[in-house]
Amino acid sequence: MKDINPFSNAKKQLDNVVYLLEKDFEDKKKLHKAIVKLKKPQNVLLKKIRLKLKNGKIKKFTSFRSQYNDARGPFKGGIRFHPNVNLDEIKALSFWMTIKTAVVNLPYGGAKGGICIDPKTVSGKDLERLSKAYSQFLSSHIGPWKDIPAPDVNTDGQIMAWMLEAYEKKKKHKSPATFTGKPLVLGGSLGREEATGQGGYFVLRQYLKLAKKGLKKPTVAIQGFGNVGFWFARIAFDNGMKIVAVSDASGGVFDYKGLDVDKLKEEQKIFGDLKLVAKEKGYKFIENKDLLSLDVDILVPAALENVIHAQNAKSIKAKIILELANGPVTPEADIILNAKKVEIIPDVLANAGGVTVSYFEWVQNLHGYRWSREEVNQKLLEIMTNAFKDVYGYSKSHKIDYRRSSFCLAVRRIVEAMILRGRV
Ligand code: NAD
Repeated sequence: MKDINPFSNAKKQLDNVVYLLEKDFEDKKKLHKAIVKLKKPQNVLLKKIRLKLKNGKIKKFTSFRSQYNDARGPFKGGIRFHPNVNLDEIKALSFWMTIKTAVVNLPYGGAKGGICIDPKTVSGKDLERLSKAYSQFLSSHIGPWKDIPAPDVNTDGQIMAWMLEAYEKKKKHKSPATFTGKPLVLGGSLGREEATGQGGYFVLRQYLKLAKKGLKKPTVAIQGFGNVGFWFARIAFDNGMKIVAVSDASGGVFDYKGLDVDKLKEEQKIFGDLKLVAKEKGYKFIENKDLLSLDVDILVPAALENVIHAQNAKSIKAKIILELANGPVTPEADIILNAKKVEIIPDVLANAGGVTVSYFEWVQNLHGYRWSREEVNQKLLEIMTNAFKDVYGYSKSHKIDYRRSSFCLAVRRIVEAMILRGRV
């Protein structure tokens, strides 16, 4: 589904809520002006980074940073290293970050950055030099009160450490709060690794409680068994849910009697991928496309965008979808699933646990605090639970689905901030 333009999808999602917001704003002219502004990023930074590689060859890498909107606070968002990174994807992701920080009411705007590169094709030293060159390029545009980058696909704490070093060298002072997702010794936060899966679980639990689903031992299928998919699976498993299928890029394993998540992770580490695990350990193998249509209570896409689309939405049997990946359901599929009464807990709410613990890291860095894992989790529970209660209440009072309800709450907060600042 590579031909689906994520930025067009993002703008469609915005258009879908404008009529609902008209009731909330006395000055409709200002609302519409703000919506027009919200259809493009405030700043887009672009640079071709020229690097002499360890093998002597000179290569140019295209890099981006989209600073979407900062009406509610400094820009905030990850940096992705991927060969398919392109401007429309980065713009869409920076828009969703703007919505996400507003849904959970963090004092941030939204941003996203990326470099077109397959990190597996260059040496570790080249990756370090590229990360540092990108950070130097960004240095006059980022900072704890300007724009706070973090890891995303194919970037991690090590890359944040290199970027921090290059940024601080350029600025000639320490500034740990400029990057989040750092290793613990450089001011990273406890609880960050599992935060997205943990936050997704807190939201799901609150949903099951408020919607009075009465599921005793819900069955769950999870697409993606990386950071987010694994931690969600493990936490859901520890809390009594039955994980019947998990997959990675190679395919997955399934068993209606339930899987042992920790054991599977160990086996995935030993054999390399889940297809091999299925073969070597005698599990039932399942293709990714078939996992999506399993007869389970809860389906959790936790890998890629656009995996549920107009062509396969009809085959979805789960009645609840928890979107832990960014943008896994296309707007066309959304319409089909809504008609089938499938309840979708949208990405901008369900996977906001990651940016929430990034916010905790920023607060700790600014104040020199060190919070325990229990403290972090308690604060995460409060923020995610309250955000879900707000979204749930708005959705019931306006008779709309959770995606539109999340967008309404977020866009309302952003537009209010834009009006108060006199930007429209
Ligand atoms: P990851 O790289 O750790 O894991 C991704 C998983 O998806 C892997 O198991 C991989 O094998 C699998 N995968 C890749 N291609 C696939 C395919 N074609 N079919 C099925 N599975 C496939 O990444 P992650 O950090 O777990 O992120 C997963 C998703 O969650 C992404 O959409 C990301 O943007 C989103 N997200 C992550 C965070 C976070 O804190 N890591 C926060 C918010 C949103």
